[in-house]
Order: sequence, then C-alpha cells, then structure tokens
Amino acid sequence: MGYSGRVKITPSICIMACGKCGDLQHSQRFCEVKDKICFRCGSTDHERGKCKSAVQKCLICARHKRPSTHGFMTYLCPLYREAVEKQLAREGMGLGERTLEEFIMESDEHTLS
Ligand SMILES: [Zn+2]
Ligand SMILES: [Zn+2]
Ligand SMILES: [Zn+2]
Repeated sequence: MGYSGRVKITPSICIMACGKCGDLQHSQRFCEVKDKICFRCGSTDHERGKCKSAVQKCLICARHKRPSTHGFMTYLCPLYREAVEKQLAREGMGLGERTLEEFIMESDEHTLS
C-alpha cells in the first residue's frame, strides 16, 4: 500500500498530511516521529493496510491531547474538519448546498476505497 502523504479528497482539493505520523501541520520530510504509525489504531506495530483493530483512534487528536476515539481523517475529527475548511477557503471553494459533514463523507467515498 503506497501512501503518498497527500490525501486527495475531491478532484480539486488536497489536504496535506504527514505520511509517517498523519499530522496535518507538517509533511513527511519534517517529521520527527521515528516509526511509522498505523493511521487507523495508532499502533506502531503495523501499517494501516495491515490493521486488524476494531477500534479507531485519531492520531492527531491524541497527539494534541484531545478526545481521540474517532477515525483519523473523518468528519468526526475536529482538527481534520478545520484543515478541510482552511483548504476550501484557500482554494476559494464553497460547500454549496452541502454541510461540511456531507462534503467530507462524499469525498471519503471517492478516496478511501
Ligand atoms: Zn509527521
Ligand atoms: Zn492498526
Ligand atoms: Zn481527530
């Protein structure tokens, strides 16, 4: 499973995420984390593609000491929502008729397969 560090959530909006630790504020090049972390459960034993955990844990929120019992890069994550909102503003895109939740869920269907 190749993870490029760039997550495309619609044909026109891209959220930068660190390919090693998942942080939204730096890229892999500037990452200080040594081990790759599973983006699904937060374990360093395996990568996301091999994850068998039933419990999802948000790496970013855990690191920022926030409630983290939600999936990483889902609309449940306040930090991810913030990143999407900022990116939309930067690209001058609006949500149209959709709510942010609908926008993210719709985008997930295109990419997280
Ligand atoms: Zn990182
Ligand atoms: Zn895992
Ligand atoms: Zn989160």
